[in-house]
Amino acid sequence: MPSNNSVKDYIRTIVDFPHEGIMFRDVTTLFADPRGFRMAIDQMLHPYAGQQIDKVVGLEARGFILGGAIAHQLSKGFVPVRKKGKLPAATIAEEYQLEYGSAVVEIHDDALVAGDKVLIVDDLLATGGTAEAGIKLCERLGASIVGCAFVVDLPDLGGRRRLESMGIEVHALCD
Ligand code: 5GP
Repeated sequence: MPSNNSVKDYIRTIVDFPHEGIMFRDVTTLFADPRGFRMAIDQMLHPYAGQQIDKVVGLEARGFILGGAIAHQLSKGFVPVRKKGKLPAATIAEEYQLEYGSAVVEIHDDALVAGDKVLIVDDLLATGGTAEAGIKLCERLGASIVGCAFVVDLPDLGGRRRLESMGIEVHALCD
């Protein structure tokens, strides 16, 4: 791929995955490309240059890949928010609504301390339900959210509005 490509050029769309009618934005092609991946990490960090960030929180599962690289770049710690039942030590949990039913995410109850300034990272913002649950977990541990960083925002699904109405700063590399 030529060197003047944008992050969006590395993302492919898979039609009818995981169900008929869904256009799945597949970021594995972005992650697999050395130039694309570095560009994404650099651009996700750009809005936060000069800001204090104590911990990077990644949302399962692609938020781990991005968040790990961002935490390494910042020389800060990484904290996973995982689906229910995956974390080994004591956790707190948040339930959120899906299109059909609900889901639960968890964080270790000692992963953040009061006053921590946290950057939340995931690959894609759709309805914002997953990110909102992650934000609530961090805030329940006394952390404050510096921002939420995504590769892709699907604006029609309202996630940005939802997070911004909670007072959260949202950055995405493409729509
Ligand atoms: P939300 O909770 O904002 O409705 O959905 C966002 C979550 O679902 C994220 O954790 C994201 O990884 C996943 N997700 C939903 N749709 C897509 C998609 O088209 N592509 C990717 N890569 N992830 C998606």
